[in-house]
Amino acid sequence: MIPPVLLLTPGPTPIQADAQTALQKPMLGHMDPAVFALNTRVQHNLRTLYGSGERAFTALLAGTGSLGMDAGFANLLEKGDEVVVCANGSFGYRMADMAQRYGARVTLVEAPVGRAVALEDVEKAMRGEPKMLAVVHGETSTGVLNPAPEIAALARGKSTLVTVDAVTTVGMMPFHMLEWGIDYSYTGSQKCLSAPPGVAPIAVSERALEAFAGRKTKAPLWYADFQGLRDYWDDHAYHHTVPVQLHYALDAALEYALLEGLENRALRVQKLTVAILETLGDIGFTPFVERPEERLPTVLAVRLPKSVDDAKVRVELRERGISITGGLGATTGLIWRLGLMGESARPEHYLRFMRTLGDILGIRSLESKLEEHLGAVMA
Ligand SMILES: *Cc1c(COP(=O)(O)O)cnc(C)c1O
Repeated sequence: MIPPVLLLTPGPTPIQADAQTALQKPMLGHMDPAVFALNTRVQHNLRTLYGSGERAFTALLAGTGSLGMDAGFANLLEKGDEVVVCANGSFGYRMADMAQRYGARVTLVEAPVGRAVALEDVEKAMRGEPKMLAVVHGETSTGVLNPAPEIAALARGKSTLVTVDAVTTVGMMPFHMLEWGIDYSYTGSQKCLSAPPGVAPIAVSERALEAFAGRKTKAPLWYADFQGLRDYWDDHAYHHTVPVQLHYALDAALEYALLEGLENRALRVQKLTVAILETLGDIGFTPFVERPEERLPTVLAVRLPKSVDDAKVRVELRERGISITGGLGATTGLIWRLGLMGESARPEHYLRFMRTLGDILGIRSLESKLEEHLGAVMA
């Protein structure tokens, strides 16, 4: 038996209880009427989750969030298309890499580490009428929130399709695909919904479906071809064998999220983030992202005080059953990234984290400090 570990990482997250139970359901075939009924409910709930409107196509891809990313570029781009990609961290650069592999001509809009992409820079890059504008809403590698609605607005009135990576945001933060003018979005099951990894919930706008239908060449990724997916999800024809157990679990987690309420979830993470920052601030940690409006609440990036040895303390935390994540690339050794997506964003988990961290650092009052700060933000 592997001892349980509390996952306070930027994904995966602790599995939501109903999703865990759903994994025990007996196996059914991927063409079973009961599975089609469940899929239809998932599609409906995903439209609510994304705020995509009734005419959007929604589905689960049989893969992780990166397949959701890949599928957007594969289906919506053709060789030689111009694409503007906002890149201020690993996942933005991953987008650019993928778009290039499909033969797109990529213009990068970059920003300094720890800063959001600047609207003026995106506006400049958007002078023409590129085929696509792509941005990561919440950049996991640095804990930066990009202004996705304002960025999407820069494509208004153009034929440009807007792709937004919603992996660290949808389900935990306001997200309104139709209202913001987004054409393609995706997430991963193990992030803000707290289901097991392995499926990527996607949403495709009506406009993006029309653009797909007008392709001159077949999409170069057969497995996630939008038409193939629609054959299965909308018309119940065989395309590939879907991971039925992961559909059960995702469905349960999604039903739970909508029952809790998307606004309530956003408040839950917002309040907990503020209280954690204040508690850690008392012992010398500082927010890595300087501007409060650019801080991603679901992946909280904090700069370590000199007195805290990054690797050593994280190993000790892990030995005591808690997993957190350090920096990535330029921020290695400088920051911690605390996961607050889905089930991670529970006060009881962070009270335990503070108690354990306090033990390791020899600071006794850390847990009660968080309790106090939580009391203050709740009031
Ligand atoms: C985790 C993540 C992904 C990739 O998801 P995988 O499930 O690891 O493939 C993409 N974008 C962002 C912003 C992420 O945090």
